[in-house]
Amino acid sequence: NRQILLDNRPQGEATTANFKLVSVDTPALQPQEVLVRHHYLSLDPYMRGRMNDSKSYAASQPLGEVMIGGTVGEVVESQHPRYQPGDKVVGMGGWQEYSVVDASQPGALRKVDTAQVPLSYYLGAVGMPGVTAWYGLVKIIAPKAGDTVVVSAATGAVGSAFGALAKARGCHVVGIAGGAEKCQYAVQELGFDACVDYRPHKDMYSLAKALKEVAPKGIDGYFENVGGMVMDAVMLRMNAFGRIALCGMIAGYDGQPLPMANPALMLINRLKVEGFIVSEHMEVWPEALAELAGLVAQGKLRPRETISQGIESAPEAFLGLLKGKNFGKQLVKLV
Ligand code: NDP
Repeated sequence: NRQILLDNRPQGEATTANFKLVSVDTPALQPQEVLVRHHYLSLDPYMRGRMNDSKSYAASQPLGEVMIGGTVGEVVESQHPRYQPGDKVVGMGGWQEYSVVDASQPGALRKVDTAQVPLSYYLGAVGMPGVTAWYGLVKIIAPKAGDTVVVSAATGAVGSAFGALAKARGCHVVGIAGGAEKCQYAVQELGFDACVDYRPHKDMYSLAKALKEVAPKGIDGYFENVGGMVMDAVMLRMNAFGRIALCGMIAGYDGQPLPMANPALMLINRLKVEGFIVSEHMEVWPEALAELAGLVAQGKLRPRETISQGIESAPEAFLGLLKGKNFGKQLVKLV
């Protein structure tokens, strides 16, 4: 079983030298335990925060242990009556090829049906990132049909699910993404009404002007994934009583300062700005996952994936995700 451990903590930008690849034997199973062979490992931006030892909403990743991470795979051996070899399961197996899971722990493993939804989607559109989009849209932005909503990192795992969910509610949906190819994909494949490439814009005024062209009635709801200049530009176009779901600020995850240019706009426009952590809202997961799976089955949510091969590729792929090199959900294929 090859594993990737967190070897040392990043000083500023994370690098591949923070990780270490090791190989260990899998232990014999105890009662209630299940051996899972991972097919895919999920790489997610939150992992960057776990690499630090500073205080946060989540515990930091201990040094010398397998990196935390969502996994999908197949049961190969089981000492638990509910799981049989061949069952497809979602869990938090971490950056390794196999995991031994105490299946009696609530939520440790979840069986999934791959008849309508491909296994890997349970780490993306029909998994944690999809529910994240659902929560911010439905519970915080709470749009009416006809509202204009905007999402940054629009073609990513969260952003693409947001687009489909917002279209299903009759919104005018605008994405912001890095590069012309991502923007074209957002409109042609993901069903966004428009998408703005932020990269050519050197300041918030220029980006705000581009947003005005595609969102002429202003912005009622914003789903924030990046922070920084992109957020400043959207703030300039928010309507009175607009809602901002603060989901992520990836532009600052390596420790870069993210000053806000015009906080007074929150007051002037009487905005509601609410941060949230999806794992603190387990009560919405069943409803959200059911809607997301339905959108996939109907062909209304066609998420893209960027897949790197082999456990040894995980550190490089993860650092790429933090720089926007991924196009859609970033996964590592292990089988
Ligand atoms: P994505 O698939 O969207 O990948 C990250 C994307 O962020 C990149 O592709 C890139 O898109 C963009 N990006 C990266 N670096 C920068 C930068 N410096 N400035 C601007 N954009 C950047 O990842 P996810 O969909 O998994 O996550 C999206 C966001 O949601 C993250 O901020 C994440 O932390 C957050 N999140 C929050 C959760 C919560 O509970 N609050 C749960 C899950 C995710 P582009 O090229 O288009 O700029």
